[in-house]
Amino acid sequence: MTPSFLTRLSRLGLKTLIFAAALSASLAESLPARADGVAKELFGAVQLPNRGQPQSYGFYAKGCLSGAVAIPTDGPTWQAMRLSRNRRWGNPQLIGLIERLSQDAARYDGWPGLLLGDISQPRGGPMKSGHASHQIGLDADIWLTPMPSRTLSAAERENISARSMLKPNAFLTVDNSVWTPAHAAVIMRAASYPEVERIFVNPAIKKKLCDTWTGDRRALGKVRPYYGHDYHFHIRIHCPPDAIGCKAQDPVPDGDGCGKQLAWWFTKEPWAQTKPDPNKPAPKPRPIMLSQLPKACAAVLNAPAVSSMAAATYGGAAATAFAETAAPEPAFSEEPPAAGIIPGADYPSLPDYGPYPHPHP
Ligand SMILES: [Zn+2]
Repeated sequence: MTPSFLTRLSRLGLKTLIFAAALSASLAESLPARADGVAKELFGAVQLPNRGQPQSYGFYAKGCLSGAVAIPTDGPTWQAMRLSRNRRWGNPQLIGLIERLSQDAARYDGWPGLLLGDISQPRGGPMKSGHASHQIGLDADIWLTPMPSRTLSAAERENISARSMLKPNAFLTVDNSVWTPAHAAVIMRAASYPEVERIFVNPAIKKKLCDTWTGDRRALGKVRPYYGHDYHFHIRIHCPPDAIGCKAQDPVPDGDGCGKQLAWWFTKEPWAQTKPDPNKPAPKPRPIMLSQLPKACAAVLNAPAVSSMAAATYGGAAATAFAETAAPEPAFSEEPPAAGIIPGADYPSLPDYGPYPHPHP
């Protein structure tokens, strides 16, 4: 053997060694991303968003959120509630829209400010409690209780309850002692934004809007009746225009949605309880695994975090910019005579949905 061959051999050995080391390093790096698990446990345990460009991956009810920003706990026209849940996170497009809505509502709609419910977790994903959607940072719950003029304490934000818009012991009837034209105006304001894909409200609220809204009704079709949503309304925005891997929802049907679609909610069918078969064990719902979410979600989950919550909090300059946006004056609706109420004797009393299914969309 010539020395040069030996040198070559040892170089080859070194290269192999380097290659092997690099391979094992890259394997080690990719290992956590491969580890599967129950998605709501994994996403529910993360305290901060990943560093990275904002992206909403997947669908509203099956996906995750990269590069999330938090809405500040307090703004001139909003206060975030239930701070302990750490669900103030969203796609910047949504956070900007919430700030804009809060300002427009305060300026034009007689709604002094928004109390914010859940948006998304720091990296989106399924939640351990509360929602099927809200997974990609494009959904937000807004309380149907106007913001008080004082700053709520952290304890109050945990404990205060929103007030239901439904009349107790009546079937799907808005309580006229709590509902005001400003409630209608803030919902219709939100629906009017082109970025807003749809809004969920209780069927009774949809009916109230159908019966009373005398302003521009073009956006009324975006306001969709659904279970619950009598304490808050739910804003869903479109996938941002530059979004890659964000799955759009089928568009809402044409029209104002005040006809047949709404009438169905006032039948027994949506409230019928399916009795479980006593001879069969109740099927256990299988939790969604990380591997069932879009592939990007494992990377989002395992990516390095931003340095702090403050570093990823959104507001200030952007909020001021929105303040310059002019909005048209809304036409307030007159309080009509009490709408024809569907006889409710046979129906369950709401808002206590009790055993009835009321999944959050
Ligand atoms: Zn919601």
